[in-house]
Amino acid sequence: FAPWTDPAEKPLIEFDRVTKRFGDFTAIDDLSMAIYEREFFALLGPSGCGKTTLMRMLAGFDTPSEGTIWLAGQDIAPVPPNKRAVNMMFQSYALFPHLSVWENIAFGLRREGMPKDQLAARVDEMLRLTRLQRFAGRKPHQISGGQRQRVALARSLAKAPKLLLLDEPLGALDAKLRQDTQFELMEIQETTGTTFVIVTHDQEEAMTVASRVAVMDEGRVMQIATPEDIYEAPSSVYVADFIGDVNILRGTARQTAPGRYEILWGEGRAPLISESDTALDNGQSCALAIRPEKVSISADRPETANAAQGKILDIAYLGNLSTYHVELPDGQIIKAQEANTQRIARRSFTWEDEVWVSWTKTAAVLLAD
Ligand code: ATP
Repeated sequence: FAPWTDPAEKPLIEFDRVTKRFGDFTAIDDLSMAIYEREFFALLGPSGCGKTTLMRMLAGFDTPSEGTIWLAGQDIAPVPPNKRAVNMMFQSYALFPHLSVWENIAFGLRREGMPKDQLAARVDEMLRLTRLQRFAGRKPHQISGGQRQRVALARSLAKAPKLLLLDEPLGALDAKLRQDTQFELMEIQETTGTTFVIVTHDQEEAMTVASRVAVMDEGRVMQIATPEDIYEAPSSVYVADFIGDVNILRGTARQTAPGRYEILWGEGRAPLISESDTALDNGQSCALAIRPEKVSISADRPETANAAQGKILDIAYLGNLSTYHVELPDGQIIKAQEANTQRIARRSFTWEDEVWVSWTKTAAVLLAD
């Protein structure tokens, strides 16, 4: 397999103004986006936003009401599911219980009429890829859940699809196994060079495995970016709020210099200072999105303008981290998260402490609201 190349080089899938309606309900709304060759692409969004509908259209179980889906430059609408270079791995795995691991992986190839030698070589390659050689002769009920998941993956990749759709692939695994399996999945994706599109309800999982993430809402794509950019540079309050924990501080913007703004955010408070590449009008409603781990807590007033005084209302101890809820005089809560690098007995703040919360001007993302 060729090494990783710039994913921007070649789109494998292009959605060109795709709309999907069920009766008068619009499940996918005029969606355009590209997924590149060799990408590990994640679809994220709340229940009902259209993730499964997109997957089903790629797999060929549904067709767009309007618009075109291109796969490697070809309109896929007239191509039946079994003729597409696309495979879908379901959460249930749907393994044949009476067939061995080896036969499960061979099943699709046999049906295609692949010559015996070639078939055996291909199955062995898949067993090696998923580290299942030792289990080749066992039946699905004689292996663990994680191993069954790998059999399903091996079977889905056996025919070397250009695109593999993964619908909640790790949903049945417990948390620890899930984490290990995420890394295996990434490794297998890289080794085979197959484009993976994953749907998962687990944001952390999407952020871990994917090279790019599409955040969806009501049939539309709100942002497509790397996990880092989705988290650090969300393009809207919706995306900031959907991924991870965030403080959203609402106010109005006043430009003080090109790209620099003061944010007025409530009676008697000093304005906050922020920078933004996107232009905001004077007096425009806006929001600052600040991740809790970028908020510092101090006993004394910090140097920065981006500070507010409050009282510690709650502390949630999460092992490696603690989250503090700091209540401002008007009742607004600001969340601050600190790494517990010291034993918790040495914690510097406790309930009811009067503290300052603050952040640097580049820590907050300024968004139109
Ligand atoms: P989840 O995360 O819950 O699986 P999803 O993002 O995958 O949700 P979809 O299954 O794609 O959501 O559904 C999108 C919307 O389209 C939903 O409101 C759903 O009720 C609707 N929908 C999906 N399939 C049909 C159908 N065959 N007939 C009518 N409405 C449908």
